[in-house]
Amino acid sequence: MNPPLPSRLTARLCWVAFLVVCSAAFPAETKGPAAGWRAGTGREKITPAGALWMTGYASREHPADGTAQELWVKALAVSDPAGNRGVLLTLDLCGVTREISDHVAAELSRRFGLPRSAVMSNVSHTHCSPWFPGSIIGLRILPPDGLKLATEYTVTLEQKMIAAAAAALDSLAPATLAWGEDNASFGVNRRENSEKDVAARRATGTLRGPADPRVPVLAIHDAATGALRGQLMSYACHNTTLNIYQWHGDYAGAAQTELERRHPGATVLFTIGCGADINPNPRGTVALAEQHGRALADAVDRALDRPLTRIEGNFSSALEDIELTFAKKPTEAELCENWEKDQPNKAMYQAWSAAVTDQLKTKGDAILRYSYPVQAWKLGNLSWAALGGEVVVDYGLRLRSEHKGNLWVFGYSTDVMAYIPNERVLKEGRYEGATSMVPYGRPGPWSPGLEDKIVGKTHELLARTGGK
Ligand SMILES: [Zn+2]
Repeated sequence: MNPPLPSRLTARLCWVAFLVVCSAAFPAETKGPAAGWRAGTGREKITPAGALWMTGYASREHPADGTAQELWVKALAVSDPAGNRGVLLTLDLCGVTREISDHVAAELSRRFGLPRSAVMSNVSHTHCSPWFPGSIIGLRILPPDGLKLATEYTVTLEQKMIAAAAAALDSLAPATLAWGEDNASFGVNRRENSEKDVAARRATGTLRGPADPRVPVLAIHDAATGALRGQLMSYACHNTTLNIYQWHGDYAGAAQTELERRHPGATVLFTIGCGADINPNPRGTVALAEQHGRALADAVDRALDRPLTRIEGNFSSALEDIELTFAKKPTEAELCENWEKDQPNKAMYQAWSAAVTDQLKTKGDAILRYSYPVQAWKLGNLSWAALGGEVVVDYGLRLRSEHKGNLWVFGYSTDVMAYIPNERVLKEGRYEGATSMVPYGRPGPWSPGLEDKIVGKTHELLARTGGK
């Protein structure tokens, strides 16, 4: 979810078969026997077939009118030397609900015996993707035909997620997994830098506020041939270059497409980091999304050209919920008066009011409690933490500085239910700390104390999986 684009932008847009030897140098450190790790990939197209309503921006006035780039669910399955397996699903979508993630994990548990914690889902947060029920529930009230199409899409989406994961698990084959890192600089702290000032600030080295330029990269090479079979990259930046009315994966989709063009036969996946308060800059056109995509792809290829650290050891996983609370229930007056004050966003406030009123009727005070998912994976000497919601950059920076081992942190995982500010951003308020609860259909801002709860549980799960 994103605050409204500036009016200027609003006006303008609002593996299986190895085919060709890959162009990247195969790092010497990753040669040799596979040490028993296996990997497999799968993919399914999830571009809506019909004219569904789009999500991400409250300003959308009509359904999508075409496809500028296909949307995908991709899966990476891994198995350690003992046969412990995990599967990561990455989606070119703005959000995912707990229901969808749990349905898919339950089916994979039934068919493959995977524990719940061994299934991880992450969305790229592209805003040029479909709205569906349960996701950003206060964004708008859809017309009945729109709601019907969106509900049908959710059923198909779950089937495709399961199919992609099953293909990845069924194609597990000896592989060498190795990781490295580089940087990209198109992500800028959007709370601290006015969009129009970024070019000048970048030129003078005066950009303000925290950001995380790191681009972690996992490379999957065939153990026998050395061919690049897959890549996973991550970046902590909103996927909001675009506000068009065609389906598009934005910069993350462009980066995946570019890397798959450069490395034929490889399946390339993207996970978004803690980029809730980071925006790409500049933005507004498909050409800019492609420019950022190439910048990310270049960072990945620079990382691949240097010696990588090989994954050795075992796989383990953990997932637990913690209870977060919202600070207070809105009063009846608040449920009614906001749209009078903010006429341009009247439809959004009406949808928020309807969603919260409905929740109050069915749940009462329970509306103030939310089960928030924290997940940890250990892949040998590398750990991953996957947090729910739109997680601000401070979490990624803090967790990586506090964790003694090698750690990547993903936001937008399992359940994208709201923004997740840290204490600083919560106190400051504004969009990520307060008002974004309206499009998300939540009663109001989180209660203070959520940062230490989330960070504490993440460290606990990382330790439990055997990460340092
Ligand atoms: Zn967002």
